[in-house]
Amino acid sequence: IGKHIAIYGKGGIGKSTTTSNISAALAEAGYRVIQIGCDPKSDSTNTLRGNNYLPTVLDSLREGKKIHLEDISVVGFKGVLCIESGGPVPGVGCAGRGINAAVNLLQELNLFEEFKPDYVLYDVLGDVVCGGFAVPIRDGITDRAYVVSSSDFMAIYAANNLFKAINKYAPSGGAKLGGVIGNGLSAGYSKSIINDFTEKTGTKTVGYIPRSLVVSQSELFGKTVIEAHPRDPHAGIYRNLSTYIAESEDLVIPNPLGVTELKDWAREWGDKIYDLETGVISGSEAI
Ligand code: ADP
Ligand code: SF4
Ligand code: MG
Repeated sequence: IGKHIAIYGKGGIGKSTTTSNISAALAEAGYRVIQIGCDPKSDSTNTLRGNNYLPTVLDSLREGKKIHLEDISVVGFKGVLCIESGGPVPGVGCAGRGINAAVNLLQELNLFEEFKPDYVLYDVLGDVVCGGFAVPIRDGITDRAYVVSSSDFMAIYAANNLFKAINKYAPSGGAKLGGVIGNGLSAGYSKSIINDFTEKTGTKTVGYIPRSLVVSQSELFGKTVIEAHPRDPHAGIYRNLSTYIAESEDLVIPNPLGVTELKDWAREWGDKIYDLETGVISGSEAI
């Protein structure tokens, strides 16, 4: 029931910020939305619920008592239902297990039949797309994934790893790729780099979110930009992205680059942008 969408990306790249603003924009438009944080950091839905405390699914399971939906969820901005899978005690156990446990519990609780969501967004850590973190795209939980990336090598490297996982699982019923969401961009060349990467891998960039103080400022108040600054141009960018993601059925199986190929490609871009001899940077105009 509902469209289930996974949003991946390297740690710290802006997954939770972007996912929460998409949820907020969809909820504002009148849709019923659930956001499930699938990152051991457990802060996915902070800006949808004013930074209020929310016990994680794994913490509640550890207590061993019978769990009700109210114990592991909180209703946030415009009715968005917020859930955090949680993670293991640091140094012990498997982080990916939290996602599996959360999804199983939500199915047992009949959440999707009862809440009848229009959209369910999974905010998934994607530095490693190991078996655990691949659960949302591997086991038919979602049929589509997006990845948040900047133009930095490690972010693109993580995106390329996700492409590898999709490439492996999609033929046997796993999710396909909706595209790349460019985030935290500041210079023109970052746009060109991301576009070149998506073109090379047979995908596309579905949004460009510039770096902005409005984002960090809203976060300090436990709010999305949609809630804190609804008339700011940045809110408009998130609204457009949410409309695209809500409506698009353009899904592909990407062609990931090999490790050497990816490194060579990145080095070529380095040479193109920065002239070591003259110190001149090309394409540094603000976007
Ligand atoms: P992730 O969930 O991928 O680990 P977060 O969404 O928590 O990353 O973002 C990490 C930090 O970067 C946060 O402090 C967030 O406010 C900031 N951030 C994310 N996107 C932007 C942006 N477009 N402009 C400015 N700051 C951003
Ligand atoms: Fe769990 Fe992934 Fe670590 Fe394996 S690599 S133990 S699945 S978190
Ligand atoms: Mg996060």
